[in-house]
Parts: sequence; C-alpha cells; structure tokens
Amino acid sequence: MHTSSTLIDNQDRKRVLLAANYFIAVMSAFTSYINFKVGTYLALASIQAVVVFICFYLILKIRSDKLRLSYSLITSSIYMLLVTYATYMSNLNTAIGAWGMTLPVLFYFLNSIRPGFIFSIMYLFIYTWILVGVYNTQNIKPLANFVLAYLIVWGIAHVYEKNRLKNQAQLTKLALKDPLTNANNLLALRHDFEQRTKAEKDVGLAMLDIDFFKKVNDTYGHDVGDDILMQLVELFQKKVSEKDVYRTGGEEFVLLFDASEDEALKVLKEICTETEHKTFNCSNGNNINVTLSCGFIHFSAIALQEPNSLSKMLKTADLLLYHAKEQGRNQIITREN
Ligand code: GH3
Ligand code: MG
Ligand code: MG
Repeated sequence: MHTSSTLIDNQDRKRVLLAANYFIAVMSAFTSYINFKVGTYLALASIQAVVVFICFYLILKIRSDKLRLSYSLITSSIYMLLVTYATYMSNLNTAIGAWGMTLPVLFYFLNSIRPGFIFSIMYLFIYTWILVGVYNTQNIKPLANFVLAYLIVWGIAHVYEKNRLKNQAQLTKLALKDPLTNANNLLALRHDFEQRTKAEKDVGLAMLDIDFFKKVNDTYGHDVGDDILMQLVELFQKKVSEKDVYRTGGEEFVLLFDASEDEALKVLKEICTETEHKTFNCSNGNNINVTLSCGFIHFSAIALQEPNSLSKMLKTADLLLYHAKEQGRNQIITREN
C-alpha cells in the first residue's frame, strides 16, 4: 500500500483513539472519585485512578508521536478490562453487560480488521464465561440475546471497516496516481520525498522529458502519444521500483533513486539507451521511436535536511534538463557535467 494511505488512515484513527482515551479517562476519574468517597471499593478506585493516568499518558503520546499500534492495543485492552470488570462485579439486573455491545465497534475503529476481530471474539468468550462460569446462569435466554445482538454489531463493524479500507485505498489511488499511466503524481512525490528525508539517506533524482513529443502527437495523433507515455512508464517501472516513478507533467517524469550516485547514473543510462532502441508499438499499427533528455542530481542526506530540499532538487534538475535539451537532446546532464 502507498505510504500516504497510511498517513490518511492514521489521522482518522488518531482522532478516534484520542476520543476513546478522553472518554475512558473521564469515566474512570468520575467512578474512581465515587468509589473513593463510598470507601468500600478502594482497590477498584485505585485501579481506576491508575487508568486515568495511563489514559493521559497515552493522550500525550498520541498527540506528539506518530500513531503506533501499541497505543490502540493498550486502549482497547483497558476498555475491555473495565467492561469485563464491571460486568463481572455487577448484579446482572443492572444490565451493565450492555456495555459489551460497544466493544466491537471500538475495537474495529481503533485497530482495524485483524486485531478488531481477535478482540471481538475474545470478549464474546469472556462474556459467556462470566454468565455461564461465574453467574452459573441456567437460563439460556439472556446469553442467547446478548450473543445474537453482539454478533450483529460485530458483523456490521467488520463489514463497515472492510468497506472503509477499500474505499480509502481507492481514494488514495485517485489522489496520488496519474490515471493514464498509473505512475505516481506530484502530490505523491512531495509526500514520499518527505519520508525519504526522514530516513536520512542520500537521494538521487532524475527529471526526464520526451524529446519532440509534440511532433509525435501532431504527426500520429494524441492516442498514439498516450500509448507511448504508458509504455514508457512500464519501461521505467521495470528498471526502478514502481513506487519510484512519478509523472510530474505532460511528458515529463521524475525517478527517485536511493542507490549511490554511480549506481543511479548507471540505471539511468540504461533507461535512456533502452528507450532510444525501443520500438513503441502504438495504436493503428504505428511503430515509433523516441528519445529522452534528462537532468540528474544527487543530494546527500545532510543537504536533504535543509528546508525546501525537494523544490531545490526539482529546480536544479529542471535546469540540467534544459541544458540537455539545449545541447542536442537524447542525453543526461548531471551537476558535474
Ligand atoms: P522538447 O524536446 O523540447 O521537450 O519538445 P516537446 O515537443 O516534447 O515539448 P513541448 O513542451 O513543446 O510539447 C510537449 C507536448 O506533450 C505537448 C503536448 O501535446 C504533449 N502532451 C502533454 N501531455 C500529454 C498527454 O497526456 N498525452 C499526449 N498524447 N500528449 C501529451
Ligand atoms: Mg518534451
Ligand atoms: Mg516538457
């Protein structure tokens, strides 16, 4: 999955996770206060006070840190333990077991499909154990009613989360991919580049532009031009990873390399040579050859930490590309040339 999709997803989950922690903290603080006042449940009151601290600790972490699965797993476990404890301690007539119905929804929102499923099935066993094992209920009706209602809520939460993930993947694709060639777009480049600079690795960036592409369109038609763009992206994606190919303009592409400068240049030269010798089989039986002009720039991890490093790289690569065009096209110009 594209990294940006995780980013969007995380922001959704972050909000739900924060809300859940605020809710648990307030509820626990309130019940802890009551229990301390009543004085008979001092152990419980102390546990609830600890829960309040854990929740506030989590809230601080969630707000300042990137989202970690452990935060939502801890929140889910705390909530499940509180509901379990309340159900276990209560008189069944209080219908406190109804709180169990809120669990699958929260589990799925916080943790997504797999952990959501595992938590949901765990609580179903816990509740059955409380009713049958602890309360020794002979009457099957309350258990059957709970289980059936719980299964419905669980099923809805499961289907909803599955659809949500599917829709989100489609939306992310729409936002970050070029629909014609399926290459990543400029928005994806901005996001991916940020991730790369965080990884503190050198980055090589190549800006490639098809030579005399307007002439191809004018001579053979726009559809033929489109065929070339699509086949060219396929060629790029075979030479570098699919995620490192970006279409940043009409017939202009960016490729990212996390190899050394020499290795990156070697691959780039292969790409330009293969393109030059490739016959593009296009619609209406047209066989066409094109060449590429290219500007290449390699940035050290330190230089990448400077503000606006992507804009600087793109600007420099664009200038080098301009020189490649000026000096006769079908060539790569690097900063050292
Ligand atoms: P140069 O060697 O200087 O780059 O010349 P060029 O003709 O490639 O450059 P120019 O900027 O003059 O023209 C770019 C052409 O790219 C114009 C436009 O018709 C074509 N183009 C841009 N986007 C698409 C597209 O999505 N499909 C097709 N078929 N053509 C496109
Ligand atoms: Mg061009
Ligand atoms: Mg151009």
